[in-house]
Amino acid sequence: MNKIKVAVLGATGSVGQKFIQMLENHPWFELHEVGASDRSAGKKYRDAVNWILPTPIPATVAEKTVKSCEPGFESRLIFSGLDSSVAGEVESAFASAGYFVVSNSKNHRTDPDVPLLIPEVNPDHLELIKAQKYNGGAIVTNPNCSTIGLVLGLKPLFDNFGLEAVNVVTMQALSGAGYPGVASLDILDNVIPFIGGEEDKLENEPGKILGELTGDHIRFSNIKISASTNRVAVLDGHLESVQVKLKSKPDMEAVINAWKSFSAVPQQLNLPSAPLNPIHYFYEDKYPQPRLHRNLDKGMAVSIGRLRECNLFDYKFTLLSHNTVRGAAGGAILCAELMYKQGYLG
Ligand code: NAP
Repeated sequence: MNKIKVAVLGATGSVGQKFIQMLENHPWFELHEVGASDRSAGKKYRDAVNWILPTPIPATVAEKTVKSCEPGFESRLIFSGLDSSVAGEVESAFASAGYFVVSNSKNHRTDPDVPLLIPEVNPDHLELIKAQKYNGGAIVTNPNCSTIGLVLGLKPLFDNFGLEAVNVVTMQALSGAGYPGVASLDILDNVIPFIGGEEDKLENEPGKILGELTGDHIRFSNIKISASTNRVAVLDGHLESVQVKLKSKPDMEAVINAWKSFSAVPQQLNLPSAPLNPIHYFYEDKYPQPRLHRNLDKGMAVSIGRLRECNLFDYKFTLLSHNTVRGAAGGAILCAELMYKQGYLG
């Protein structure tokens, strides 16, 4: 097939670099253009970027000239890893000019006509883009990186047993703060019990994602969520301690089976970035761990373990997902693969 030309905005950042790594050798998409701030525009990509990934910069990308983030790109499909201080306006400008934007930034996530998409959880919400007023263009958003892992773990419980309340405490990796992120003197030998804006996203985004598409809007689900977020000295991979109160309490084996048997539209469509099994359950008490399990199934799977009775709620467990892969670039690429396969890219 002729590959679809795509561009990455924010291509020099943490998420942008992951996009570039993951798009190398993609079977459907070809990275054609890269954009970043005016500090980088006009430079060769290899001179503009402080490359921090362990694989080399793909040779074809290294020589590309970084563009300013303004419409005028040749690629119609745009992945955005832009800083949220600029993402809102830039993404609207591209969509209004007829581009399909798949964004990792928070700016458009709460727009009523913008899907907050996890392809395994709410693929039907893509319908919303038909109601967007962007002259043939569209914006689709990826949820917050901790939210994606959490909601993937909650979805089989929501579907099978009903979900009333969730308490989640996160231990989030440094790469989630972008580059250079948190100063070494702040995080070494330390845990920082605050991540600006993060608890609000974890408490509010799942209601939209697990909500029901009714006509041209989403009726939010009314699960009560309480979140506490912490930054820890781990490079990649957000670990979450989760407590759940269910509508009907199953036995533990039924909960584990719901996770292990979970499979959804991306698996049925065999999308290139879809994990074979979206959720891996570990019976070993000491798992999952960020260093050992964040790259499971291309970094696109969620790892869960330590399911046990909870004295306050029904059950508690530990969950892990890769924040820059499943929680950002990989998740966004999976959204675009779903859009392509379902005919949304025109
Ligand atoms: P980052 O490392 O700070 O990268 C930010 C990118 O935005 C850089 O490419 C930067 O280009 C570009 N940029 C900054 N100001 C700009 C401007 N005025 N015009 C055009 N481009 C500009 O941040 P990140 O961690 O990759 O995060 C990017 C976005 O994804 C954020 O909205 C973040 O909240 C979201 N996100 C991050 C993660 C994660 O795990 N890191 C997960 C999910 C979502 P220059 O290099 O030229 O300055």
